[in-house]
Amino acid sequence: MGTAVQQISEIRGQSFDTLALHGGAVADPTTGALLTPIYQTTTYRQEAVGKDKGFTYSRSANPTVSALERRLAILEGADYCTCYATGLAATTVLCLALLRPNDHVVVSQAVYGGTVRLFNQVLAPFGVKAEFVDTADAAALRKAVSTKRPRFVFIETPANPTLRLTDIESTAAIAHESGALLVVDNTLLTPALQKPFELQADVVLHSTTKFIEGHNATVGGALITSDAELHERFSFTRNAIGAIQSPFPAWLTLQGVKTVGVRMAQHSENALRVARFLETHPQVTRLLYPGLESFPQFELARKQQTSGGALIAFEIEGGVEAGIRLMNSVKLCALAENLGSAETLITHPASMTHADVPQLQRQTAGITDGLVRLSVGLEDAVDIINDLSQALAQTKGAA
Ligand code: PLP
Repeated sequence: MGTAVQQISEIRGQSFDTLALHGGAVADPTTGALLTPIYQTTTYRQEAVGKDKGFTYSRSANPTVSALERRLAILEGADYCTCYATGLAATTVLCLALLRPNDHVVVSQAVYGGTVRLFNQVLAPFGVKAEFVDTADAAALRKAVSTKRPRFVFIETPANPTLRLTDIESTAAIAHESGALLVVDNTLLTPALQKPFELQADVVLHSTTKFIEGHNATVGGALITSDAELHERFSFTRNAIGAIQSPFPAWLTLQGVKTVGVRMAQHSENALRVARFLETHPQVTRLLYPGLESFPQFELARKQQTSGGALIAFEIEGGVEAGIRLMNSVKLCALAENLGSAETLITHPASMTHADVPQLQRQTAGITDGLVRLSVGLEDAVDIINDLSQALAQTKGAA
C-alpha cells in the first residue's frame, strides 16, 4: 500500500462521479469486503516496539476515517484531508493550528453564525482579531488585507444564509500578495459544483454534516489542502485537542458522499424550479438564488460554480410575522436547523442558525429579521412547490 498522496495521484483522471464511489478505496485485505469496514477500535496491536501498521490510537487516526479522508481529498482535487467531529471542530483546529495572540484574520461578513460566534466569543479572548469584511467588495477586501496583514482570509461562498458570493480567484490573489492564506468554506456547494483549489485556494473547509453526507444522519467536518506542512499542523492539532471524527459517522459519510454528484445536480434542478415559482409569487418581496438571471452576482456564479446549488433565501410580504406563519404552515418542508439534506428544510436564520450573531452585524451582513432560508431537497419539485404555495396562502394578510 503506497502513501496517501501516491494513491490519490494514481486515481486522478477519472470522472467526479466515479471518484465519489471509488476514490481512495482499498479492498479489505482479509475478507475482500467491498465497503470499507467500520473499524470500531480504540487501539491497534503493534508487532514490536515502534513497529505498527500506521495506526496506534484512534484519536490520532482510524482506518475508516482515513478512507473518508482519501475520498474527500480526491474529490476536492487535493493531496490531504483531516476529518473532524463537526464542521466547527474543523474551523477550531484551523484556527488553533494557524493563529497566535494578536494575529488577524479577515472573514466574510456573511458566514455561518457558528463561525462568527467562534471568532467573537471563543477566540477573541485569546487575542485573535477577526475583521468581518464584505469580501465580495474587492476594494474593501484589499484594504482590510493590506492594513491588517491577516494570517488567513476566510471566505464562505455562497454565504450562509444570504448567498452572497465572493470571487475565489481574485480573493486568492489579494490574500497571496500580502502573504496570507486563503481558506474557503465550500460546504454549500461541495466539490461537485465548485472547486476552490482550481481557483488557488490554500485550504478548503467542509461541514460534512451538510451535502457531503447528505442524509441528516451525521455531524462532521473536514480540512483539505495540498500543503504537506499545513496538513501536518492540522493533524498534530487534531490529535492534541482530540477533535477527530468517530468511525461510525465517518463510515456513514463515506456512503453518503458516493452520490454527492448526482444529488447536487438534482438539488440544483429542484432549487431552480422552486426559485422560479417563488420569483413570480406576488407575496415574495425579495428572492436570492445564484442560479437565476436576476441574482445580483449571476455572472460570478456562472464563472465559479457549475450550477446554483440547493439554497434559496427569500422574504415575504408581512415581514417577520408572515415569515413565522409561513414556517409554521409548511407540511412537507421541515422547520429545522440544518441544510444540505435529502429532505427540504426551512429555517429562520435570525432566530435559529444566526441567533448568536449580534443584530447589527446580522443587518450589515444582509441577514434581515424576515429572511427565510430554504434548503431544497430531493423530493419531487412539484410537491415542494405545492407545499410552499399552501403555506404562503396561509400567510396572506399577516402584518
Ligand atoms: N460552515 C457552514 C457553511 C455551515 O453552514 C455550518 C453549519 O451550519 C458549519 C460550517 C459548521 O458545521 P457543523 O454544524 O458541522 O459544526
